[in-house]
Amino acid sequence: MMAAVETDLLVIGGGATGAGVAWDAALRGLRVVLADRGDLATGTTGRFHGLLHSGGRYAVKDPRSARECAAENRVLRAIAADCIEDTGGLFVATPADDPAYADGFVAACQRAGVAAAEVPVAAVLRAEPRLHPGITRAFSVPDATIDAWKTVWACARAAAAHGAAVLPYQEIVRLLVEGDAVGGAVLRDARSGAETTVRAACVVNAAGAWAGRVASLAGCEVGVVAGKGVMVAMNHRLVHAVVNRCAMPGDGDILVPVRTVSIIGTTDARAPDPDRVQASADEVQAMLAAGEMLIPGFSQHRALRVWAGVRPLFSAGATITADTRDVSRAHTVIDHADRDGVGRFLTITGGKFTTFRLMAEETVDAVCAELGVGATCRTATEVLPDSEAHQYYWIGARQAEVEADPFDDPLVCECELVSRHDVLVAAARRPGLDLGDLRRALRLGMGPCQGGFCMARAAGLLHEAGHLDRSAANAALRAFQEERWKGVQPLAWGDQLRQKRLDDWLSLGVLDLEHLPA
Ligand SMILES: Cc1cc2nc3c(=O)[nH]c(=O)nc-3n(C[C@H](O)[C@H](O)[C@H](O)COP(=O)(O)OP(=O)(O)OC[C@H]3O[C@@H](n4cnc5c(N)ncnc54)[C@H](O)[C@@H]3O)c2cc1C
Repeated sequence: MMAAVETDLLVIGGGATGAGVAWDAALRGLRVVLADRGDLATGTTGRFHGLLHSGGRYAVKDPRSARECAAENRVLRAIAADCIEDTGGLFVATPADDPAYADGFVAACQRAGVAAAEVPVAAVLRAEPRLHPGITRAFSVPDATIDAWKTVWACARAAAAHGAAVLPYQEIVRLLVEGDAVGGAVLRDARSGAETTVRAACVVNAAGAWAGRVASLAGCEVGVVAGKGVMVAMNHRLVHAVVNRCAMPGDGDILVPVRTVSIIGTTDARAPDPDRVQASADEVQAMLAAGEMLIPGFSQHRALRVWAGVRPLFSAGATITADTRDVSRAHTVIDHADRDGVGRFLTITGGKFTTFRLMAEETVDAVCAELGVGATCRTATEVLPDSEAHQYYWIGARQAEVEADPFDDPLVCECELVSRHDVLVAAARRPGLDLGDLRRALRLGMGPCQGGFCMARAAGLLHEAGHLDRSAANAALRAFQEERWKGVQPLAWGDQLRQKRLDDWLSLGVLDLEHLPA
């Protein structure tokens, strides 16, 4: 039996953009359904660099993106403080960079409204002693780091509080094209296979690098190119601030301190299929070599994990033939009624994580125009859940929580300081959650052991608390280990290889994971 649901707006894709659209529309009083084929923020949004851009990176090359990032950086700091760590950012001219670029950079930042100020190199080296001693110039900018999963789930929770239905693991398999308009979609449950029809007055395609595929379900063509980028997480926080090379954007020129690790990235190359994107050992080596320009000896540090994401790159009206790095990071709202004669169907594509709220605002403005709704956007001033105190996240926060209650709440994950209580609260909040969902919600298993110790404990806890039966717990543990291996395999040497062998002895030797009933 196919269930049926009726709504004002169906949003396809639960990355930052789709979650932002759902939140904005729900705040304006629309009935909203948000659906993603996987967990929320498991597309590009869950595979990005973690940088809340100041706009500095785009100031010279892509001034529109720079202006938008600068403005949205200020907005997100005001409404999503709990998702942000205010690390600050630096642009540094290394010995390999043309010092003349710096003058153009400062002028371009001024034009784009990016607050960039030159700082003495000696002061920078005192604050960041690992940085290259041959740096010739340095500039501070209001870059920061932002937690994608926290942000997206905060938007989803805020949308749900205003009546939205948030549906992870629901793939849109058909769009209902009726005459010259889209009237809804058929969703398939990725776990049970059950199908649901959602009838909607309007449908927004926010499927990122997959937007072309979704648009084709309504016979529309959207030329989104997937621009692949590779990132490597290093074991320690090697810098305190986000560090960018002060040069034209290139490969491996940003180092971002994210919680207890640092992430070097990224590359930019066309990917023929956004579902088949893998990082190679060569790409890992290229990132480590690029890191040497920022931090001498960088490649000797322990690399924990590598992954790749795909940028949704769109160039209106033209097929993208250029180098993907040269395609603007600006966004576009496509009203398919105007362009293709297919009404009540919009695509939002391109953009950055940093500008997701603005992208959502423009999209919902277009939805409201289509539906004849007069409500205005409130997301620039409405504070997201958990950010009410306007306090940025800080690196010592979890340690402080553990020290406040060191004996009664045992740790499940020592690397990321996740306690038994944290696991049980997260599981109660999301019925049906698996170990991958738990990892994203709490960063469980993201540290040096890559889940080797904590995941068996978490699986046991979820079983004991009645969230997973025995065979589901075994299956979840096995699936988790297989998924983690993908990100370790291209950098399995030295200490990380030793760690992997230990993890294998535990899961295959002690637990005999391969033969557990599941
Ligand atoms: C390597 C890299 C580094 C980056 N670093 C930064 C950074 O530091 N700062 C920054 O601001 N930006 C960064 N970006 C850009 C940013 O990550 C993206 O622009 C942004 O996350 C895109 O979000 P989205 O919601 O549009 O797409 P996505 O997050 O990809 O969401 C699209 C969703 O649609 C879903 N979907 C697809 N098909 C279907 C279907 N048929 N049914 C249901 N759901 C479907 C997918 O599962 C996915 O979750 C980076 C991008 C890359 C690739």
